[in-house]
Amino acid sequence: ESGTYKGMIEDCCCDYETVESVNAEVLHPLLQELVKTPFFRYFKVKLWCDCPFWPDDGMCRLRDCSVCECPENEFPEPFKKPFRNGLPSDDVMCQEGKPEAAVDRTLDNRAFRGWIETDNPWTNDDETDNGGMTYVNLLLNPERYTGYAGPSARRIWDAIYTENCPKYSSGEICQEKKVLYKLISGLHSSISIHIAADYLLDETTNLWGQNLELMYNRVLKYQDRVRNLYFTFLFVLRAVTKAADYLEQAEYDTGNHTEDLKTQSFMKQLLYNPKLQAACPVPFDEAKLWQGQSGPELKLQIQKQFRNISALMDCVGCEKCRLWGKLQVLGLGTALKILFSVDGHDHQVQRLQLQRNEVIALVNLLNRLSESIKFVHEMGPSIERIMEKQ
Ligand code: FAD
Repeated sequence: ESGTYKGMIEDCCCDYETVESVNAEVLHPLLQELVKTPFFRYFKVKLWCDCPFWPDDGMCRLRDCSVCECPENEFPEPFKKPFRNGLPSDDVMCQEGKPEAAVDRTLDNRAFRGWIETDNPWTNDDETDNGGMTYVNLLLNPERYTGYAGPSARRIWDAIYTENCPKYSSGEICQEKKVLYKLISGLHSSISIHIAADYLLDETTNLWGQNLELMYNRVLKYQDRVRNLYFTFLFVLRAVTKAADYLEQAEYDTGNHTEDLKTQSFMKQLLYNPKLQAACPVPFDEAKLWQGQSGPELKLQIQKQFRNISALMDCVGCEKCRLWGKLQVLGLGTALKILFSVDGHDHQVQRLQLQRNEVIALVNLLNRLSESIKFVHEMGPSIERIMEKQ
C-alpha cells in the first residue's frame, strides 16, 4: 500500500515514496540486525541526574524509582526521603512499581568484558569518567510506554520548544533555525510513535499492544509532525553516510569475534548500500547551511541551544525515558557534529573524531527513526481511515 505522503521531503533531496521503500527493503532490516550486535546494544550512560534547570522540584530523586543497583542502606538519606513521603500527585515522575519504567541493567558479561578492553582507543574523557556511568543493555530496555506524563513531561517538552527551538513562523527564512526545530519535532514524533506502538493497554492483565488512537492523536493527525519525522530520518541518514569512511574503519571489537565480523559486515552494507545510493544518494544537503554572513555566529547560537536541549535530558523524570532521551539527543548531536564540524567548504577541514558511545547513539537513533518511518508507512493510511470515520 502506498503511503499518504507524496513528493519531495522539505529541504531534503528525496521523496517520501523512495524513502519508504528504501527503508523497508534495506535500511530497516539492516539496522534491526545491527542494533542486536554486542557492539551496538550496550550504551554507556549517566542515568543519575543533576538537573541544571530546576533543582528544587524533586526531579533528581529518581534513583529510587529504578531497579535497585545497591542495597537500600547504601542510598544517601536525601534520596530516600521524597520516595518515602510520596510525591504530589500531579507531579508524579517517579515510576516506582512500574516495571516498564525502570531500566534493566542486566548485562551480557562476555560482551561487557570485551568492551572494556577496547574502550580506551576511542575516548579518554567521557568514557573513562566512570563516575555514575552505567552500561545499559538496550535490548532489555525497549523504548515504549512508561506512564511518564503530566506536568513533569510537559515541562521538558515546553522548555525544549519555547526556550530552545521556537516553532518558526511561516515567514522564517533562517534555514538553520528551522532545521533545529524540525530535528526536535521529528524526534518527538518518533518517541510518541514508539509509545503508541508498545503501549500498556490493560494494567490489570499486563496486556501490551498498539494504541492506534494515540498514534493518530499525537502524530498522524498533524502533517508537519510526520514530515519532520522523515526530515530527521534523512538528516541522520546523511550523517551516517557522510561519515562512511570513518565508520567503516572504526573498531567494532567486543571480544566476540564472530559477532564482531557480523557487525562490520552489516555496517558496510549500510554505509555503501547500492540501493540507497541509487535511490537517495544525498539524503540532505548540509552544504546549503551557514552560508550567510552571520553563519559562524548562528552556528554558535544553535550549538548552544542544542547543548541546552541535551542538558534538559537530565531533568527527564523517568529513568527509561531519560535513557532513550539521552541516547537519541546524543545521536542527534553526533549527526550535527558530523555534518557541521567537518565542513567540506571550509579550507580548514577538521578531522572527524567520534567517540564509541556517539557511534552507538547514532546508529541506535537511526534505527528508532527507521522503525517509526516503517510504522507510519505501513499503518498510517489505515489508521487515518479508521480515525477519520469516527
Ligand atoms: P507530549 O508528547 O508531551 O507533547 C507536548 C506538546 O508538544 C503537545 O501538546 C504539542 O503541542 C507539542 N508536540 C507534540 N508532538 C510534537 C511534535 N512531534 N512536533 C512538535 N510539537 C509537538 N513517555 C513514555 O511513555 N515513554 C518514553 O520512552 C518517553 N520518553 C520521553 C523522553 C523525553 C525526552 C521526554 C521529554 C518525554 C518522554 N516521555 C516518554 C513522555 C512523552 O513524550 C509525553 O510527554 C507524555 O506521554 C505525555 O504526552 P502528551 O499527550 O501530553 O504530549
